[in-house]
Amino acid sequence: MVVGINCGHTISGAGSGAVGIIKESEHTRLVGQALMRLLRSAGITVIDCTIDQANTQNEYLAAAVALANRQDLDWFISIHFNASVEHKGHGAEVYTYKGRQYQDALDVCANLGHLGFSNRGVKDGTGLYVIRKTKAKSMLIEVCFCDNQQDVGIYHAAGGAEGIAKAIYKGIYKVAVSPSVKLPADENHTPTREEFHEFVGEIARKDWQERHIMIPSVVIAQAAIESGVGTSELAQNANALFGVKLNGWTGRIYVKDATEQNEDGSYRTDKNALWRAYDSWKQSVLDHNNYIATRSTDGGKTLRFAPVIGCDQYVLACQYLQQCEYATSQTYASTLINYIERYNLHQYDEFEPEQIAPEGFSWVVQAGAYKSLNNAKMFQQKLKNIGVASKIVQYKTE
Ligand SMILES: [Zn+2]
Repeated sequence: MVVGINCGHTISGAGSGAVGIIKESEHTRLVGQALMRLLRSAGITVIDCTIDQANTQNEYLAAAVALANRQDLDWFISIHFNASVEHKGHGAEVYTYKGRQYQDALDVCANLGHLGFSNRGVKDGTGLYVIRKTKAKSMLIEVCFCDNQQDVGIYHAAGGAEGIAKAIYKGIYKVAVSPSVKLPADENHTPTREEFHEFVGEIARKDWQERHIMIPSVVIAQAAIESGVGTSELAQNANALFGVKLNGWTGRIYVKDATEQNEDGSYRTDKNALWRAYDSWKQSVLDHNNYIATRSTDGGKTLRFAPVIGCDQYVLACQYLQQCEYATSQTYASTLINYIERYNLHQYDEFEPEQIAPEGFSWVVQAGAYKSLNNAKMFQQKLKNIGVASKIVQYKTE
């Protein structure tokens, strides 16, 4: 996917745009640059079609369109802020060629409406030079009215340029993210609770033995609680068993509101939060351990979850997670501990001392005994169907 972004208007002089309570050309750049960062971090190629200086308005428009038409774009997006004579106009709107009601354009409008602006809809922008002259499918977004006090208030409350960029991004990015997150063929994504514990447990045990990051029972409990045993929107649509925000992630991204708890115990919603998306649940479990092992908020000088790493007592590990502010929930540790004890997950933390079979020998698990060879073969086939290799040997049984 290739997207051209035009931060509307020049910075000053000819073609410089409206000046209301906030200055249009300044905020088109803030929104556009935030949007470009989001798109690039999702692996989308972004062409910056912004023109900072021009001798005339027409020269500015022609230069922006020339940049856009140099390559094939999936979308050309021009960012603007509106203004009206009496400063009473308010709301968000999007212009397209002949007013085409593209789903992405409708979604951008709806997402801006979701932030609190009135949704003025997708309108006919054929009269606009950048809509008419660009070869690509194009939309011109009027984020809101920069000269209207109420709109500017909503703009700031929605997170300013970052909040707007996420709303636009969510409108166009799903095209890139949704089809590419597939259900891995070798994972059962509708497991029973017990199957879920076993699935995560096997990965967590192996990783604990190899990397010693987080004790298996805690990994399983976190995965089960955070994903609703694999049923959450993130688990089903983004293959993510944990809600991990981007924090430097350069892989695929999933966009979804986040519910966070405030210090006074009340809840708030962070709109259009960005989450890591994965190829499989397995990748999600391993990346979560990576995250625990490497998360730093001071450029790597200190590790945020240092006490958790390698801690082999599940009660302590859960308390450390809460102390290190893994989650905003104030009952996070007790929830995890109760879950581990209720489902006996500490059994996943136990490791016998390793004994390696001598050269030429293997440890063989005996699975069944039959009088009938046909029945033995049927059982062998069943095992084969679930990926277990087995051998049929005639033993003396008495
Ligand atoms: Zn404008």
